[in-house]
Amino acid sequence: MTAQLMRSALLFVDGDWREGASVETLHDKFDGTPLAQVHVPDRGQVDRAVRAVAAAQAESRLTGFERGRILMAASALMRERRERLVDTVVADTGFTLTDAEREIDRATETLQLCGEEAKRITGRMVPVEGSPGVRGRIGFTLRKPLGVVCAITPFNAPVNTVCHKIGPAIAAGNGVVLKPAPETPLTAALLVELLLDAGLPEGLLALLPGGADVGQALLEHPVPAFYAFTGSTRVGEHIARSVGIRRTQLELGSLASTIVCADAALETAAGLCVNAAFRKAGQVCTSVQRLYVQRGVLEEFGRLIARGLADRPAGDPRRPGTFVGPVISPASADRIQSWVGEAVEQGAELVHGGTREGSVITPTVLGNVAKTMTVMTNEIFGPVVVLRPFDHLADAVAEANDTPFGLASGVFTADLDSALMVAGELRVGTVHINETSSSRVDLMPFGGVKASGTGLEGPRYAIEEMTEETLVTVGPARP
Ligand code: NAD
Repeated sequence: MTAQLMRSALLFVDGDWREGASVETLHDKFDGTPLAQVHVPDRGQVDRAVRAVAAAQAESRLTGFERGRILMAASALMRERRERLVDTVVADTGFTLTDAEREIDRATETLQLCGEEAKRITGRMVPVEGSPGVRGRIGFTLRKPLGVVCAITPFNAPVNTVCHKIGPAIAAGNGVVLKPAPETPLTAALLVELLLDAGLPEGLLALLPGGADVGQALLEHPVPAFYAFTGSTRVGEHIARSVGIRRTQLELGSLASTIVCADAALETAAGLCVNAAFRKAGQVCTSVQRLYVQRGVLEEFGRLIARGLADRPAGDPRRPGTFVGPVISPASADRIQSWVGEAVEQGAELVHGGTREGSVITPTVLGNVAKTMTVMTNEIFGPVVVLRPFDHLADAVAEANDTPFGLASGVFTADLDSALMVAGELRVGTVHINETSSSRVDLMPFGGVKASGTGLEGPRYAIEEMTEETLVTVGPARP
């Protein structure tokens, strides 16, 4: 089955692997060699997939314990199949071996967390007698699955983000239709295979590879009750406009800042910032893009960043030790290169990197940037970090807030008052103190504010999003 999937990525519809209405060729992200023929469904197949999942979900009688056991088994299988999954992630995404391993290890934990949470889904007690004139009545809620959850996912976390959608949906008793990113269909197929091998009833999950057309057909379908989306703000806004009163979880674009104060442990901060700016070639929603450094330590911090980048090669993601691999496509590399070029033309200083070979862009550090440059105002989603000096912490906070986005930030300081001021003033979903913007762990509630989206990931919190409550009140049978 797997060898066949490597040659052709099929749909999984109505409990079976099937051919699509059309076929597209998938390419390796580093060397461009053809990897697989990807089957893409037409609208009829999308309809059949959604309706089959809805029918299976309506019939499903799995208990929380049984759903938890399936998700735990999936987590264990993921650990066993780590090597094969890592290879596939590298091919689909161009991530380095280290980044792909980290992706699988985090997803293994995410599935485990979902398995644990499946066993403790509860409603809540409502103190009805707290209202005047009420006596002998109690109230509680029943928490119920929604039906079909439609998961639409991005290329940059093709296992863990998908597990953050599918895992809570299954834990909560829903069926799932997954449309993965068009760049990563092989990874998605392995994940579906793994869930089925772990005992997930085959009707409860459908896989529909493809791009915007397949996504659009899913948005227009009347059956999904919930859209779990991670991706760009542009597509997120389109989803919000398209699905009417149906519920959504929209984890969208970002432009993340990390602030380094003069009193911080600079060496530690620099090491963490280097990883957080360049892992996955900077293609992470929480990647450090704007790095605010207090002026008095700017030079020293710049040296520490340069030291952190020394002997860390960019290039072939399969070569052990490669620090930065290719970005997802030549078009993406073109865009990043042109933004860096434009910044340099406008007076920015190229402190490090800035070269390109194929889709590989070397880790790039820019100094002397102006607030209005594209590298400051737009999400780069590439291996580029911008150094901005500040004198007063309040100025750095004001600038970090000056973006349409609000996902995550970090601040390094030894002063608790300063740290708490930053946490209080920044309009973002998460502030990490003495960590970078990119230091999420998977049990956290995770979501953005402003144009970074609505709704929460994190298994426990996503289960709440993917369920509905019925309030039940009970009065005395005989007055
Ligand atoms: P994208 O928005 O281009 O694509 C995401 C998904 O949406 C893909 O599966 C794509 O095929 C699908 N899609 C595109 N058009 C559609 C349409 N009309 N209808 C339905 N589906 C459609 O994003 P991407 O390039 O894959 O990922 C990068 C973006 O994701 C960045 O902006 C990044 O910040 C964001 N992201 C956010 C988070 C978060 O947690 N907030 C996490 C990871 C990535």
